Amino acid sequence: MAGRLEGKVALISGAARGQGEVEGHLFAQEGASVVLGDILVEAGRKAAEKIQSQGGRAMFVSLDVTKEADWQAAVETTVRTYGKLDILVNNAGIFHTEGVEATSMELWNRVIAVNQTGVWLGMKYAVPAMRNAGGGSIINISSGAGIIGTGMAAAYHATKGAVRILTKTAAVEYAKDRIRINSVHPGVVDTEMVRSLLQSEGMQAILAEHPLGRVGTSEDIAYGVLYLASDESSFMTGAELVIDGGFTAH
Ligand code: NAD
Repeated sequence: MAGRLEGKVALISGAARGQGEVEGHLFAQEGASVVLGDILVEAGRKAAEKIQSQGGRAMFVSLDVTKEADWQAAVETTVRTYGKLDILVNNAGIFHTEGVEATSMELWNRVIAVNQTGVWLGMKYAVPAMRNAGGGSIINISSGAGIIGTGMAAAYHATKGAVRILTKTAAVEYAKDRIRINSVHPGVVDTEMVRSLLQSEGMQAILAEHPLGRVGTSEDIAYGVLYLASDESSFMTGAELVIDGGFTAH
């Protein structure tokens, strides 16, 4: 049976670990050729080798999503190696807990650079390649934090809200090029990003707001991202796919 992404080529940012790594594995299992981009070079190479050892097509590129030249190189390498680009997952992100007053200018600018500027740059350089391929699918990883407030993580919330609306306007802009652009909004997911914080008072309060009563897994999110990447979602663009155990439902 053909995979759900048979013949497609995907670039995933922040794919050395966590949700991005799991998405890389799932995409390769479903027949895609996958380019994993991250600043974690060693872990990223290992993740690509693991996919290859299981018979998948994958490679690693060093990608700092805040750097324009890195995005240009990552897209060029993808097209040179696998012939085209069909799918971009803007997944790289950083988290912090500071509220409005505790946030320094340095922290604010860093979070904006990675979580927000990084998503814009990814789209900017992926779109021309997708146009050449006759269309594509971009999935921008936002968060429940892009929909509701929690009283902490001010810059993080600001960036995830920005990704939500940037996704919608880009979806309208590029529909004519047959490029679909959707956002994904995970609840709390058990990855390195939040693992050390899971027992904290703030996180426990947020988790208590997840009616399904558990932390999400990277697989929970990856299956939603797979759907948006595949042609199964061909009538979906500018939409928000919420995968959050009910966190934002109340
Ligand atoms: P993670 O920390 O395990 O993975 C994030 C990845 O992004 C890491 O591999 C990291 O090296 C990479 N990264 C960081 N800065 C980068 C940069 N400048 N350039 C390239 N790569 C960079 O966390 P995760 O949970 O897998 O996060 C994936 C996405 O999901 C993020 O956008 C995050 O904001 C979002 N998200 C996470 C949660 C959660 O609870 N874990 C909830 C909602 C949304």
